Parts: sequence; C-alpha cells; structure tokens
Amino acid sequence: MVLADLGRKLNAALSSLNRAPIVDEKVLDTLLKDVCAALLETDVNVKLVAQLRQKVKAKVKASLESGADKGKDVNRKSIVQKAIFDELVQLVDPGVEPYKPKKGQSNVIMAVGLQGNGKTTTCTKLAVYYQKRGFKSCIVCADTFRAGAFDQTRQSATKAKVAYFGSYTETDPVAIAAQGVAKFKKERFDVIIVDTSGRHKQESELFQEMVQIGEAVKPNMTIMILDASIGQAAEAQARAFKESSNFGAIIVTKMDGHAKGGGAISAVAVTKTPIIFLGVGEHLHDLEKFSPQPFISKLLGLGDVQGLMEHMQDIATQNPDKQKEIAKKLEEGKLSIRDWREQIQNVMSMGPISKIASMIPGLPQEIVQGSDEEGSMRMKRMIYISDSMTAAELDSDGSPFMEFGKDGKPIGLTSRVTRVARGSGTSVREVEELLCQYRMMANMAKQAGGKNGWLQAAQKMQ
Ligand code: GDP
Repeated sequence: MVLADLGRKLNAALSSLNRAPIVDEKVLDTLLKDVCAALLETDVNVKLVAQLRQKVKAKVKASLESGADKGKDVNRKSIVQKAIFDELVQLVDPGVEPYKPKKGQSNVIMAVGLQGNGKTTTCTKLAVYYQKRGFKSCIVCADTFRAGAFDQTRQSATKAKVAYFGSYTETDPVAIAAQGVAKFKKERFDVIIVDTSGRHKQESELFQEMVQIGEAVKPNMTIMILDASIGQAAEAQARAFKESSNFGAIIVTKMDGHAKGGGAISAVAVTKTPIIFLGVGEHLHDLEKFSPQPFISKLLGLGDVQGLMEHMQDIATQNPDKQKEIAKKLEEGKLSIRDWREQIQNVMSMGPISKIASMIPGLPQEIVQGSDEEGSMRMKRMIYISDSMTAAELDSDGSPFMEFGKDGKPIGLTSRVTRVARGSGTSVREVEELLCQYRMMANMAKQAGGKNGWLQAAQKMQ
C-alpha cells in the first residue's frame, strides 16, 4: 500500500486512543504528538502540521463544550477520531474538481513535467486506464528533445495495445503535436494524450515550448507529472509550472517506496490543484485514482468502498447486464457471498493484490501489508472456501451458516461451517473469518447506499 509506513504509525496512534480508559487533554496531546511526528517524517511542511494540530484541538474543544460527548469517553473518542480524519483529508484536499473526460468527444490531455519524473510512463498508464473504461485512447509523442523518447512511447504503447503517433525525422515538437492531435481527432479518438519534452531544470525554453504546444493543440486538461521523492519541494515546482502552463491537474509518480510522498501530496494541495492519480510502480497498471477522502480512509485501514464500487462498475462496464445487476444489488444492500467471491476474483485478476486489496473493507490488514505472494495465497484460500459452498449458500447473505435463537438473534454456527472447512481443506476458523469479513463488507455496502454512510460505518468498526 502507498505510504504504508505512515498508515501504520497513524493507526498505532489511533489505536492507543482506543485503548485509553479516559480521554483527557494529556491523551489528546500524546495522540497529536504521534500523528504530527508521523506526518513530519513523510516530509509534510512543519506549518501545515502545526495547523492540523491546532485545528484538531479547536474542533475537539468546541465539540466537548457543546456537550456532543454526552459525558461519555466512547463518544469523546469518536469526536477525536473524526476531527483527525477530517483534518487529514483537508491536508490533501485542494478543494478543486478536476476535468473529467467525456465519451463521444475528443478529450485532449497534455502532459508536462521535468525529465525523469515518469511522464512517458504515465502517459501510457493513463491511456491504458481510459481504454479499459471504454474510451478510445491514444498517445502523441511530442518529445523531440530526448533521444529515444519516441522509441520508448512506441514500445510501451505497442505493449499496451494503444494507438500512437510520433516522428523520427520531424524536429519541431509543435508540428508533431498538432499533426498527431489532428489525425486522432479525425479518427474519432476519445482520449488523446500529448507527451511533451522534459528538461533537467525548469528552463525558460521548456516553458516556451509548453506554451506553444498548448496553443497548437488546445488541451482540455494539462497534467503536470511530479516525482514524489521531492517531498514538500513539490510546492515550488508546481507553482513554477503553473505560472507558464496553467495546468489543471497533477499526477504524483513513484509513490511506491517513497516515504516523502505525503509531503508531496500535501504540498500540491496548497497550490489548489487536484491530484488525479498516483503512480505506484513501473508497470502499466500501476496507476491509482486519487481522491482525498478515500485516500485517507485507505491510509487509516478503513477501506475505500467508494473506490471499490467504481472499480466494480468499471469491471462491469465490459458486461452491461452485470453492471445493472450489481448497481441494483448495491442500492438494495443485497450483496451475496457469491458477489463477494466474484469481487475477490476480480481483485486477483487486476494485478498486484496489495495495491487493490486496501480498497476492500473488512479484508484482514495482513493481506494488504504482507507480500503480494502471501496476499494472493490468502485470497486463493478464500476462493477455495467459497468453492465448497452450495449454490444456495453462495447466493445467501450468510444466514444458512448461522444458528438463531428463539429471539431471532444468532447464537452460533451450523454444521455447514465444518462441512465447508473439510471440503476446502481449510480450518473452521478460516471459514468463520470469511463469513465475518463478508458480513462486514455487506454491511458497509448497505451503509454506502446513503452518501458517505460507509465512513461512519467504517469508523464504528474500528
Ligand atoms: P520521463 O522522462 O518523465 O518521461 O520519465 P520516464 O517515463 O522515462 O520514467 C523515468 C523512470 O521512472 C523510468 O525508469 C520509469 O520506469 C520510472 N517510473 C515512472 N513512474 C514510476 C512509478 O510510479 N513508480 C516507480 N517505481 N517508477 C516509476
């Protein structure tokens, strides 16, 4: 998971709050000290961290004064948790909505950024992302500065089965960009991504070239590609680019393994530019959609039901009937064990588990934190378990496995659990765990029917 170390530290701080018998000023101060130390370690600006601390304290104080805790420590804990959650979201939220490509029209996206930041790689990842979601996508390589840039685009675009345009002989990047965009517009492509040159430094020549290409292709959105490893220095770099190319969105790359990524994200938020994706690896699918609230939710181990639903719907786009069925089930809160199994299978087919599994609330954290190999093994065992269920059990909400008392409350498990454990070569405990995780997932999906209800549900589960 991105920023796993930060997530672990924030989680540890919040769990110490849960363990505290009473919530007084000392407990709050210790908690805030740990949260702030974790943020500083990921290179978040000292001023921003100090602001977060003050705001949390002020919010908690105001809530307590209004009597919202009703004198109970449990309520006090959730007030503190919510204040921290909200302020962490604020820290990464620029408060601006990015442009969203629309189908049935040509959406020109221009990528700018310094050399080595991952621009060319990200252009292909973006094309793949949109292509998978039903947009006819292509890449125009207008980088004539770096030798081999067109070869790199050609190779990665061919591998990704994405159309591309470029030239070995033309030296004018503006001419190539204009020709490429005109050609693809004529061929009715939905998403046309223009990759521009980068330089090692922010030279005026680079900025001039960006402005000229921009004038020639009139992009619907300009995206700046920024390397996470520069941490809070991202603010200065973003401002320098913004002065000349007025970009509308940012993609922060190399978030995998860069402890300073938190600093980069919060620094970008200060410039009031939305981050739309994070680059999380060198492969074509290593691109994660970014939204402030789900990002913090995942970071704190609360899952990302919103992302999960979008993801389920994306997969279902390839099968419209399935899409309708899933949308209806989500609306009615009627996800069966079979639906959940399908979801796990989809996750497994989407690439490295650690990157996607953190979206699924209720999945044990070890799946997210362990190695990909271990994660896949655990998920495979979940599939084996569900393979041993009967059709009726799979289509159920888990109740055939429960024994109910006279008052309708569950009092234990039926012998079906032992049968399934035996049939799948797993243990009764593993089957119980699967049922428990499914129930959490189903409850959260139900809560998600009401906007953001999932967040409260997730917080209650903590
Ligand atoms: P450009 O000069 O900005 O076009 O950069 P490239 O696309 O050529 O990327 C530079 C290097 O960064 C390459 O080795 C890429 O594989 C690598 N890279 C790009 N994005 C990511 C990312 O999200 N994570 C990691 N680990 N490497 C990346």
